[in-house]
Amino acid sequence: MNILLFGAPGSGKGTQSALLVEKLGYLHISSGDLFRTAIKNQTPLGLKAKSFMDRGELVPDDITIDLIKEVLLKKIGQKFILDGFPRTTVQADALEVLLRDLKTSLNKAIFLEVPKEHLKKRLVGRRVCKNCGATYHMDGHPPKKAGICDICQGEVVQRADDKEDVIENRLTVYETNTAPLKNYYAGKGLLKPLNGLGNQDEIFSRIVEELKS
Ligand code: AMP
Repeated sequence: MNILLFGAPGSGKGTQSALLVEKLGYLHISSGDLFRTAIKNQTPLGLKAKSFMDRGELVPDDITIDLIKEVLLKKIGQKFILDGFPRTTVQADALEVLLRDLKTSLNKAIFLEVPKEHLKKRLVGRRVCKNCGATYHMDGHPPKKAGICDICQGEVVQRADDKEDVIENRLTVYETNTAPLKNYYAGKGLLKPLNGLGNQDEIFSRIVEELKS
């Protein structure tokens, strides 16, 4: 079963994807992580993507589609979760063509529903490990030692695009470009909206139930 996990920034896609990888053996394909790795390694792709990401804008469709295409071509055959891609209907159309060419398809588009006031709180308090990508939250789940990752002792920082002014722009960009994917996948009979509020285990159980049905 191949899944798209989508929702607004801060809806918990990354956290739930990590659980699906750990507990159910999915392959995780996150466009945001791929861009961050490219930036860290200072590749030409990373250099192109950085200015868009720092402003909370979407990286242009053609660049993003080429990136995902490259990854999917290498990984085909394993069940996967797409996290953060597609974010526009143009990307969704390109994905459909790509999966058809690869003789596979998406089975469910799981949408994590979280009200806007919760999203802002989650994003402002979010911290990530620069080294392994583990995520923390200043309310409720801070690292045991301030600024140090519990898992790998890497540096725990706030993402540049989790600063308050950029968050506002990301949420607007989401409403304009990505929210229409709800209708897009509803039209294809793939949309599975789930309540994205609660602790991570509760949300994970809802996803597991959905995958069984
Ligand atoms: P994320 O980690 O999914 O929140 O993504 C972080 C940032 O990466 C986004 O705000 C965009 O700038 C960029 N990005 C990630 N995925 C996409 C995509 N599918 N299309 C365009 N830009 C993307």
